[in-house]
Amino acid sequence: MNIDLGLTFDNSYARNLEGFYATCPGAKASSPELVKLNTSLANSIGLSNHDSAQLAEVFSGSQAPIGASPLAQVYAGHQFGGFSPQLGDGRALLLGEVLDEGGKRVDVQLKGSGRTPFSRGGDGKAVLGAVLREYILSEAMYALNIPTTRALAVVTTGEQIMRTQLLPGAVLTRVASSHIRVGTFQFFASRGEQDKVKQLADYAIERHYPQLKSSQQVYLDFLCAVCDKQAELVARWLLVGFVHGVMNTDNMTISGETIDYGPCAFMDDYDPKAVFSSIDRDGRYSYNNQPVLAQWNLARLAETLLPLISDDEEEAVAKATEAVTKFWEVYQGYWLTGMREKLGISTEEEGDLALCEQLLESMSGQEVDFTLLFRQLANDLETSSLESKSAEEINLESTSCESDKLFNDADKFIQWKKLWIARLSLDDQAKEKLSLPERVAMMNAANPMYIPRNHQVERAIEAAEQRADYEPFENLLTVLETPFTLQSGSEGYTKSAPKSFGPYTTFC
Ligand code: AMP
Ligand code: MG
Ligand code: MG
Repeated sequence: MNIDLGLTFDNSYARNLEGFYATCPGAKASSPELVKLNTSLANSIGLSNHDSAQLAEVFSGSQAPIGASPLAQVYAGHQFGGFSPQLGDGRALLLGEVLDEGGKRVDVQLKGSGRTPFSRGGDGKAVLGAVLREYILSEAMYALNIPTTRALAVVTTGEQIMRTQLLPGAVLTRVASSHIRVGTFQFFASRGEQDKVKQLADYAIERHYPQLKSSQQVYLDFLCAVCDKQAELVARWLLVGFVHGVMNTDNMTISGETIDYGPCAFMDDYDPKAVFSSIDRDGRYSYNNQPVLAQWNLARLAETLLPLISDDEEEAVAKATEAVTKFWEVYQGYWLTGMREKLGISTEEEGDLALCEQLLESMSGQEVDFTLLFRQLANDLETSSLESKSAEEINLESTSCESDKLFNDADKFIQWKKLWIARLSLDDQAKEKLSLPERVAMMNAANPMYIPRNHQVERAIEAAEQRADYEPFENLLTVLETPFTLQSGSEGYTKSAPKSFGPYTTFC
C-alpha cells in the first residue's frame, strides 16, 4: 500500500547533498498507534490524510509516504568538550522536506524509528516518556515565541524498549527549519573535505540566509548571521529560565532553532548554576554558562569556515575571531532588550544592564520562583498604583507587596525595587510615555504565567506510561498553548513543584 499524506515533498537535502547522508528505511513497528497529532501544525504543512492507521504506519517509520526519501544525516560534534568525529542520526530519519503554508521549507523527521548506519552501539529507538517530554517542551517553547523545532505526531510502537527498565517505545515526528548543525560542518572539516564544507555552507546560505548571497564576504557574513541567531536564541532561553542541558555542537542548529530536547528543563527557583542533566556533573551547561558555551560552539563553527573566509590564514583567523568575539555584545543586547520588556521599561538608559544584574543578585540564593516573580512584579505595580498617576507615586514598599513574599529574605530585593521605580519614573519622562495599563501589558506579554513545570511534565509522562492515560498530557499542552494569558481553572499550573517533588534530575 502506498500511503499519501497529502504532503508535497521537495527533498533538496537528498537531491543536492549526496555524500552528506545515508539512505535508510525505518524499522517496522509491531503495532503502531497514533496517540497524538498536532492538528494545527499538520494543517499548516498541508497534511490532509487523517486516517489514524495510515498516519501511525508513516509516523512510526514502518512505511515511507509517497514523495519521501528517508535518510540519516551524518555529522560530528563536540560532546561535553570532547570531539567525536563520527556521529550522525543514530535514531532519526529525515522523511523529506515540505513547504508550509507560508512557503517556508521545513524538514519532517522521525526520531526513534530504528537503527541507521550511524547508530553505533545504540538501538535506534526512543521511549514514550522522552518523546512526550520533547513534545511538551518544544511546543511550549513555540508558544513562548522562542525559535524551536516542533512536534507533529507521537506514535507508540507496541514494543518494550530496554533502558534501566523496560519502557514503552514511541516515535516522535518533528518539524524543523532544517537539521543542519554546527557538527555537520565539523564532520567534513575534520576530514579535510573543504569542498564539502563549501557545498554545505552554500546550501545553508541558500536555505536560511539567502539575503547574504550577493555579499562580497558571504562566508564571514554567514558566520556572523549564525552568531546573531544563536545570541538571540540563548538570550531568550535565559529570559524564561530554560536550561538546554546538552549544548554539544551537534545539538546547535545553523537555523537558530532550539533542538534536541533531551535533558532540558525550566528552573523553578532562580539559580544561576541550575543543572538538571544527570550526566552534566561539572555544570558545563548550567543556566548561566549557556551563553559562554554557545560562543565556544560558534568558535568551532568558525574554525570550519576559515578557508572560505580568506585564502590568507592570518586574515581569516582575525576576521572569524572578531565575529565570534562580538557574539558576547550581541547576546547582551538581546538579553537586555528582553529584560527591559520583563521589567516594563520602554526606553534605554546607561545603567539598565546594572539594574537588571542587581535584580538577579537580589534573587540569588533566595529560593525565589523565577517565573512567578516577574509576573508578580507586574501585579504589584498594578495593585499598588491603582490610585497613582505616575511611577513616582507608586509605593511598592507597602506590606501589600506580594513579590516580597517570594523571597526568604527580601531586604536586597526591596532596595532594588526603589531603583526600579526610579527607573520607571525616568521612563515616564519619555516622549511617548506608557500608561500604567500599557506598562503592565508589556510586562505580561514578556513574562509567561505558564511554563512546563517539571512536576507537571513528569505527571503527564507517568500517566501516559503507566496507564495509557493521555489526559494530563493533553491538559498540560492546552495550558501551555497560551502561556501569557490567565486561564480559569488552571491556577495549579502556575505553581512550582511541591517540596516533596525533591531536586529534579533529567536523563537523555
Ligand atoms: P544526543 O545526545 O541526543 O544529541 O545524541 C547524540 C548522538 O547519539 C546522536 O548522533 C544520536 O543520533 C545518537 N543516539 C542517541 N540515542 C541513540 C539510540 N538509542 N540509538 C542510536 N543512536 C542514538
Ligand atoms: Mg542530538
Ligand atoms: Mg538527545
